[in-house]
Amino acid sequence: MNETDAAFVRRALEQADLSALRMALFQATHDPEIAAMVPEPKTVRGGAGVTYQLSEKYRKALLEKGVEFLTNGFENFESRVPDDREVRTLMEMAGDPLDDAEFRARREIPAFDPFPWAAKWSGKRPTLPEDFLVVIVGAGFGGIGMGVQLENLGIPYVIFERRAEVGGVWSINTYPDARVDTPSAVYEYSFEKSYPWTEYFAQQREVREYIEYIADKYGVCKNLRLSTEVKGARFDQATSRWRMEVVGVDGVKQAVTADFVISASGLFASPKQLEVEGIDDFRGGIVHTTAWSGDQDVTGKDVAIIGNGSTGIQLLGQIAEKARKVRVFQRTPQWISPREQYGAPVSDEVRWLMKHVPYYWNWSRYSGALSTMNLYGLLIPDRDWQAAGGIFSKQNDAVRGFLRDYIKDQVDNRPDLVARLTPDYPPFARRMIVDNGWYRALLRDNVELVTDPIARLIPTGIETSVGSQYHVDMVVTATGFSVEKYVWPADYVGLGGVHLQDRWAEDGVKAYMGMMVPDFPNFFIMYGPNSQNTSGGGAGLPTQIEIWSKYIASVIIATIENDCTAVQVEREAFENFNKRLDTVAQGTIWLVDESSSGRNYYVSRGRLLVNQPWPHNEWHNMITRPNFDDLNMATHSNPVARARCPIDEPTVRSVGLS
Ligand SMILES: Cc1cc2nc3c(=O)[nH]c(=O)nc-3n(C[C@H](O)[C@H](O)[C@H](O)COP(=O)(O)OP(=O)(O)OC[C@H]3O[C@@H](n4cnc5c(N)ncnc54)[C@H](O)[C@@H]3O)c2cc1C
Repeated sequence: MNETDAAFVRRALEQADLSALRMALFQATHDPEIAAMVPEPKTVRGGAGVTYQLSEKYRKALLEKGVEFLTNGFENFESRVPDDREVRTLMEMAGDPLDDAEFRARREIPAFDPFPWAAKWSGKRPTLPEDFLVVIVGAGFGGIGMGVQLENLGIPYVIFERRAEVGGVWSINTYPDARVDTPSAVYEYSFEKSYPWTEYFAQQREVREYIEYIADKYGVCKNLRLSTEVKGARFDQATSRWRMEVVGVDGVKQAVTADFVISASGLFASPKQLEVEGIDDFRGGIVHTTAWSGDQDVTGKDVAIIGNGSTGIQLLGQIAEKARKVRVFQRTPQWISPREQYGAPVSDEVRWLMKHVPYYWNWSRYSGALSTMNLYGLLIPDRDWQAAGGIFSKQNDAVRGFLRDYIKDQVDNRPDLVARLTPDYPPFARRMIVDNGWYRALLRDNVELVTDPIARLIPTGIETSVGSQYHVDMVVTATGFSVEKYVWPADYVGLGGVHLQDRWAEDGVKAYMGMMVPDFPNFFIMYGPNSQNTSGGGAGLPTQIEIWSKYIASVIIATIENDCTAVQVEREAFENFNKRLDTVAQGTIWLVDESSSGRNYYVSRGRLLVNQPWPHNEWHNMITRPNFDDLNMATHSNPVARARCPIDEPTVRSVGLS
């Protein structure tokens, strides 16, 4: 190594996450002196999570160990995939002792295996009928992740995407400062190692490019049919296949027959448009954030931003830099939190560490995930704590105190703003929003916070319920999405001619494990009702997607390997699952707290809709091991009779559950 290289390595080590560096170096060298550098727990964001950090007193010694390792022929070092026992020992070295359930839930976060969530055939891949086909609807993170899973298994599939490019929400949402608000280190698939993100929280364009890169690298592109919309599908009982209606480029209709259909059509696919009196009389422009195209010029204009969820918060700063005046219309104040490294670039040196230092990427991923491991205490009220004068729970109240102080600090303690910006419900009752400088932007001379309800649009602007009128040239509606419209507007017709949307309109929008609905054999939903895990576990949405895709692929494999052609969830299992879910949900922050219930998109018509309500370990256990007792497999001629295939139970149970 020459001098310049050595200087670069030293600079890189100076910038390393010390905990991750310690774990990587220990795993590579087993140096007992490194093991003796014990990290300490540190709460983050007022108690929202705990990380384990290495004291600065070890910095110098650790860096010297790093220099020694990296300047002595480490290029020839061969990384190994550690077994369970080694991973567990290492994880305990990185933090606290883990019980079995906790270890299982964390096992794949450092992602040592090439494909941590790969489903597997129990033996050799069986020969499939020549026209066998799985259809995936949508090419966002869900559809592409599912495609990678099927590609690896050698199962024929096609992905229909109605847009002209892949990316889903990351192709659609191009509004100013659109970016992830969960760190890119966890907002990525675990099978793609050391992706060279340029920012810790990647911007929209980079995330879209990432999905394109994955689709290309993992062989999914050849099976993509862009500008092609699935209008609907009908299950044909006689053949156990779905007859699909698909409209391709130039509106050409195609009939497609599929053995399995997987809807990965997204939770945020149906924008909620502004509905307010006078909208037709308004002479200015109205643009929903999903329709932002870059053609909108706000320079010198009077702009109104309606909605202060994650999107409305992100776009204020950049719009305010150009507009003459921006008025932020706020209905409900949100809890908005700072995040370390938000907006910060990843230096060349850190990217080098990720790519070249054995195990560093794995441990920085784990280290980043640690702070979001145990969030359940934030979601469940503590009655004893409340009886002693607390508001919700010790952990939740601590975060609340931290965020209240943060608001005061950010708005220079201006009493008019502090009062209107501080929510009266506990943090985490709604999606926690990340601050990209929103509070500071409110202090600008050309920005005004309006909290009086909007009464109507008038030709020249907006009138509030107290009669104030504001001149507006352009309304930006950051009003979010109709999340209850799962798989909409595609029309899926199951056994007995039942339409999925009708079933849901009657019985409520429900699924088993978020994925399956009785009478809809061979049909799965990704990111379906109650599938989002917000109770911790450190896994970002792409990892949740990988887990769903493994579950779905495991069920498809089991069906094929048992010579069956149809699989669906038993009605009783579906009912029991949802009964249990609703009971647990009643005790969570989303429903138990009157001040928050019904005021967020997680809840619809009084029922928890988007999230799963269990502690993450329990959920992880359910979602990573299909319970085949709950599923009904049938032969092609008689899926309705619910006759189980003549299958040998142990074979079924062993399939794809590694
Ligand atoms: C602005 C924004 C920011 C977000 N930021 C984060 C974040 O920071 N962290 C996080 O964890 N999550 C975030 N999310 C949530 C995000 O939805 C998920 O993380 C993830 O991208 C969802 O992927 P998906 O494939 O399930 O859905 P989508 O990305 O919505 O993809 C669905 C695709 O299906 C297509 N489609 C739908 N119906 C049909 C049909 N009938 N025929 C053909 N194609 C169809 C759509 O065109 C779309 O391309 C964000 C969401 C939004 C809207």
